[in-house]
Amino acid sequence: MSSASRDHQPATIAVTAGRPQRGPDQPLNVPITMASAYGATGELEYSRYGNPSWAAFEDALGALEGGRALAFSSGMGAVTTVLDLVGHDGLVVAPAHSYTGTLLQLADLESRGRIRTKLVDITDTEAVVAASEDAALVWLESPTNPALEVADIATISAAAREAGAYVVVDNTFATPILQQPLTLGADIVVHSVTKYLAGHSDVLMGALVTADEELYAVLKGRRELMGATPGTLESWLALRGLRTLHLRVERAQANAAELVRRLREHPALSEVRYPGFGGIVSIVLAGGADAADRVTRGTDLWVHATSLGGVESTFERRRRWKAEPATIPEGLVRLSVGIEDVEDLWEDLRGALDPVV
Ligand SMILES: *Cc1c(COP(=O)(O)O)cnc(C)c1O
Repeated sequence: MSSASRDHQPATIAVTAGRPQRGPDQPLNVPITMASAYGATGELEYSRYGNPSWAAFEDALGALEGGRALAFSSGMGAVTTVLDLVGHDGLVVAPAHSYTGTLLQLADLESRGRIRTKLVDITDTEAVVAASEDAALVWLESPTNPALEVADIATISAAAREAGAYVVVDNTFATPILQQPLTLGADIVVHSVTKYLAGHSDVLMGALVTADEELYAVLKGRRELMGATPGTLESWLALRGLRTLHLRVERAQANAAELVRRLREHPALSEVRYPGFGGIVSIVLAGGADAADRVTRGTDLWVHATSLGGVESTFERRRRWKAEPATIPEGLVRLSVGIEDVEDLWEDLRGALDPVV
């Protein structure tokens, strides 16, 4: 497989990495390899150990994040594999507003006596650093879902590594286009590929990336034994999505910034949360849950659905999920801004917001 030069910019890497060797009659894209076993004595042997369609996606994502990637069956498959690095009774420090699946997994492991957890306000760098002193693993998510808090990844990583803890960053919201945690000192990057990386709301997949060869080998071994391996078609679709990641992120971000400017003036809202980058915006309806529910029923373009990071704009009231922390306001609606025309998006959203003032 040809690998893109690390000297290239992300837009070039997204397009060129993970391609087959060039040559007469060589396909420009890695084919979908449907196989559960390979001829014996080679490097692959069995399909739980590897697949050329995974490898192409992994080459591309690894080049974008500055490490080596491993694809997983889902974001949660990747999350669970990382948490398995923590020894018995080890301490995990994590954001109080982590992704709900991550919080549920941490709570489950703690309730069974496997690990201890300490949930922190990720914006309070001093408190996070202090909590990390005895940690085995420091989990960061930045921006957080859906509170959109931002962590000082570089400062926390330096302190946590000094204390001997692994530093893991869930980079699902920012994507490697906007933030590369390995260059900021993190050990492992986690992705729900389901979201921006695949980008078309048609794939469930996850990934880990690390620049540490030993850690890579350990995580690959865990993937083989836990069996959280991705589908071949999914890997192919995810790589196809990744080819336009930079364009989609740029457009979603430009649309989000313009919508935020207008939403900040809207009298139906008590709060507009936006970290200043990316395509996710959280708005809080002054009228609470009822007003928020009316907005999510009142649009034509915006799709009422969970998940995020697709080409189409979606939104949902997060507290409709029982597992969402009670510190997230009842009237908070998370917007995943897509790549449609921004005036069309605004007209549609305004049409749903105006009646609930
Ligand atoms: C969706 C999500 C996950 C979980 O990924 P799945 O692909 O749904 O298993 C993890 N972290 C964040 C930030 C997410 O948004």
